[in-house]
Amino acid sequence: MENKLKISIIIPVYNESGVIEQTHARVAALIAGLPYEFQVIYIDDGSTDGTDSILEAFAASDDRFQVLILSRNFGHQAALSAGLDHAGGDVIISMDGDGQHPPEMIAQMIDLVRQGYDIVQAQRIEDDGSFSFKKISSGVFYSLLNRISGTHVQPGAADFRALSRQALDALKSMPEYHRFLRGMIAWMGYKSVILPYHESKRMAGVSKYSLAKMLRLASDAIFSFSLMPLYIGLSVGGLFLILAFAQIVYVLLLWFTGQYDRIVPGWSSLMAVILISSGIIMILLGFIGVYVGYIFQQVKSRPVYLLKNKNGVIFLQNYQVKVKPRE
Ligand code: UDP
Ligand code: MG
Repeated sequence: MENKLKISIIIPVYNESGVIEQTHARVAALIAGLPYEFQVIYIDDGSTDGTDSILEAFAASDDRFQVLILSRNFGHQAALSAGLDHAGGDVIISMDGDGQHPPEMIAQMIDLVRQGYDIVQAQRIEDDGSFSFKKISSGVFYSLLNRISGTHVQPGAADFRALSRQALDALKSMPEYHRFLRGMIAWMGYKSVILPYHESKRMAGVSKYSLAKMLRLASDAIFSFSLMPLYIGLSVGGLFLILAFAQIVYVLLLWFTGQYDRIVPGWSSLMAVILISSGIIMILLGFIGVYVGYIFQQVKSRPVYLLKNKNGVIFLQNYQVKVKPRE
């Protein structure tokens, strides 16, 4: 028998009971028409709306479908990491479960990996001229990130991509706690290609990326891909020293030229300098605090996610510890 190429599709979902059946139907229809061996891994990221039981029913009826259930909501990037750790395919595809990433593109992605690309990255194109908070904030975020970090992340890059086995193994060798997968994948290099696509509307439900989750992702990206905030501190500190030096020279000049009456006034400008500089110092201490916090979380080496089985037993999932397979 001919050895078929193995394809893993990983789909993280959080409270998607309204769309998961449609997504499942589309994915099932797609894989039925392709000549490969498929493994589809759904990751339930601590859903509370019964998504986990729906997923378990899919897995029970067809053994190409598998489910990982996380012990609580760890967030999209952690759920994706859980799927990537468990993917056994030669080509590994990640996509959202809400229908915004058209599964119909998967055939083309697989072809590109077969042609020798290690990373096939889908890029959302936004040419309908409309504006939304998400679009604007995403545009501002990517231009800031690309300006201050050494890694270029394609604006509009989604967590919809195919990886070769080599790229996935490289990605799995990066055990960082604060995960911004788009950046980590861009950082790796390898032969990449960008596949533009038009994003459709969510099939049902609302976005599971709350503002707080978006901000956390942005801070994970900025603080783990750039030391620029610390350099801002250094340069602003330098500027203030120069200003202080100029001030001393100015006062000494007044002193030596006998203009004593011009020295006493200036309380308001003094206060302004003190307030501005102490404000800047506090902000910069805050930046340093964030890095120290990130270092602390990293050295604790906590697992990025925990798995739970049907009986609620939790297995430690780590990069070093082997997971007991779910039966
Ligand atoms: N998701 C997740 N955990 C979370 C938030 C989101 O697994 O904490 C999943 C979600 O179910 C979806 C994908 O990640 O399959 C992308 O999320 P969403 O569609 O809500 O984000 P948006 O498309 O609005 O950026
Ligand atoms: Mg979505």
